[in-house]
Amino acid sequence: MLPVVALVGRPNVGKSTLFNRLTKTRDALVADFPGLTRDRRYGQASHEENNFIVVDTGGIDGTEEGIDVEMAEQSLLAIDEADIVLFLVDARAGLTAADQAISQHLRKKDKPTFVVANKVDGIDGDSYSAEFYALALGEVHQIAASQGRGVSQLLDHALIPVVEKLTAEYEAAMDELAEAERLLESMGDEDAEGADDAEPNVKKLQSLEDLALDHEHDENSDEEAVPFQDLPIKFALIGRPNVGKSTLTNRMLGEERVVVYDMPGTTRDSVYIPMTRNDQDFIIIDTAGVRRRGRIKQSIEKFSVVKTLQAIEDANVVLLLLDAREGISDQDLSLLGFALNAGRSIVIAVNKWDGLDQGVKDDVKRELDRRLGFIDFARLHFISALHGTGVGHLYESIIEAYQSATKRISTSMVTRIMKMAQDDHQPPMIRGRRIKLKYAHAGGYNPPRIVIHGNQVDELPDSYKRYLMNYYRKALDVMGTPIKIEFREGD
Ligand code: GDP
Ligand code: GDP
Repeated sequence: MLPVVALVGRPNVGKSTLFNRLTKTRDALVADFPGLTRDRRYGQASHEENNFIVVDTGGIDGTEEGIDVEMAEQSLLAIDEADIVLFLVDARAGLTAADQAISQHLRKKDKPTFVVANKVDGIDGDSYSAEFYALALGEVHQIAASQGRGVSQLLDHALIPVVEKLTAEYEAAMDELAEAERLLESMGDEDAEGADDAEPNVKKLQSLEDLALDHEHDENSDEEAVPFQDLPIKFALIGRPNVGKSTLTNRMLGEERVVVYDMPGTTRDSVYIPMTRNDQDFIIIDTAGVRRRGRIKQSIEKFSVVKTLQAIEDANVVLLLLDAREGISDQDLSLLGFALNAGRSIVIAVNKWDGLDQGVKDDVKRELDRRLGFIDFARLHFISALHGTGVGHLYESIIEAYQSATKRISTSMVTRIMKMAQDDHQPPMIRGRRIKLKYAHAGGYNPPRIVIHGNQVDELPDSYKRYLMNYYRKALDVMGTPIKIEFREGD
């Protein structure tokens, strides 16, 4: 789960500039989901192994009228979604009434907030930023976003320590969840005699303590030696508002009483629901928050981009739900792009396939073919969450995608496949010399990574890379997951 950092401040203080610097070349996801601003941008940033999501909030200056009011409100919402706020001010412009108004709002929120005086290039930073101490939000960090000056100090001394703390808290919570899982499982075993398949094998969890008491005598369940196998498959059910996420979650859970685990933090968090199907354990990361305990289903900001991105990040498999009646939107493609970048396995389900006439179905299929070409490894399902049609088969693809992503591949195997591919179809000549692939090794899994060594590999055309990718996909029988191939020059 990635912590979320919001960039807040008046227009023109340099938020976009800092956003671009923090997210580097990664593509930003521009959110114009229904009900959200056109103006919020989301991107991923990393600094020395620490990853976080950055949200650029447009701008607030406290004097908004008309459409700007809406934008300001969106910025304020973004603050609610964030774990950490970077409050940017313009050192050259000096302290303004709008800065004061924003700081008042931020003080009420009581979140880790850092004041950042931007544009200190070519001026005496200390004297220009002194007045911002009047905002009463603590230390004023000086940067020049356009040159990158001060940015790594800001990260090292202010942001990253908080990111680390949040990440540790989250990991502790996940450990707790895993422990609850383990306890539940052994309880399920005790109850298993004579239980038929329809019997829910998950019990209502009152509290972790109750369970621990029940379980005290059963400490020696030995942990599996094989990584990945026997672990629950975490899949995130994502999609735009109204595609049918809640309906599908309910359909998958049926009438089972389930354990619902609210992740700590704010209301934006997804709900984690363990479930078992045909002896395979799953955890649904439910971004719609269907079975959220003790909270009213939020109707306004029911859909949250941040929540969706975090769910993708935390899942093994992403189940993207599309609406047959709406087709595929740019936002769906952005979400897919984000999942791909994160190296996640992907299954796509086109929902609301009920009651459509054949002509419409053909049109939808044609459009999907055209727009999903870049992700042709993902299984495509046509389902009706409402009636349950096709829902059972989703599990097969989720399991397949997960197994593909975690499949063991050996160095000798990937080298052999590389040679076969090269024999079948030689790479092109560059300036009179043929590009040569020499050997390959397995670079990891989840997703599978293959490292190929050779001569002039920097010159390898994309078409040949795609050819290799497809060759590996077929030869390794890998579906549902991206394969990452890296090229290294020389031996
Ligand atoms: P936003 O509206 O807060 O997103 O602000 P932008 O990032 O679009 O920046 C507004 C203007 O300030 C642009 O013209 C930037 O080039 C300029 N700017 C941003 N950062 C710096 C900086 O560190 N130094 C200077 N001198 N100008 C900057
Ligand atoms: P969410 O916002 O993604 O959680 O979407 P919901 O599950 O709340 O569904 C939005 C609307 O679509 C509701 O009115 C559902 O009844 C309807 N819906 C969901 N799945 C289907 C389906 O398979 N077929 C049809 N016809 N309607 C559906």
